Amino acid sequence: MTCIFCAIAADEGSARVVYADDAAVAFLDIHPVTTGHTLVIPRRHVDDLLDAAGALAEVAPAVEATAALLTHRLGADGVNLYQASRAAAGQTVFHLHVHLLPRWAGDGLISMHALHAREVADVEATYQRLLG
Ligand code: AMP
Ligand code: ZN
Repeated sequence: MTCIFCAIAADEGSARVVYADDAAVAFLDIHPVTTGHTLVIPRRHVDDLLDAAGALAEVAPAVEATAALLTHRLGADGVNLYQASRAAAGQTVFHLHVHLLPRWAGDGLISMHALHAREVADVEATYQRLLG
């Protein structure tokens, strides 16, 4: 099996699984960004969000249950979801996965809101493009 996350879903890896159901598996990230950083994957292989065909909905119950577990057991104050689809977005493992990042007040992890000053396209112009 060439996909490491398929191997984990098939219980052939050495992942630290914290939650599993019929459709999804949640396990600790080996390079955590915050304490309890967890990945949630669909059991079936899809590459990314643009290839998902319903897989994101299949992992949603596991994402919710794992968020509750991490917050409760680790005493986190909050949680961030992060998902990278395709290399340009920073994806490095090409089996769809959702990152769950437990958060604590003042933990110092950079906030998306810190990036608002960047040069990006005008919101109204973007809206017009999306309307086609
Ligand atoms: P991304 O960059 O969004 O594709 O995230 C891939 C994540 O997978 C990274 O945070 C890695 O640390 C993590 N990772 C890679 N291999 C493993 C593994 N065998 N077990 C747990 N986490 C892994
Ligand atoms: Zn896979």
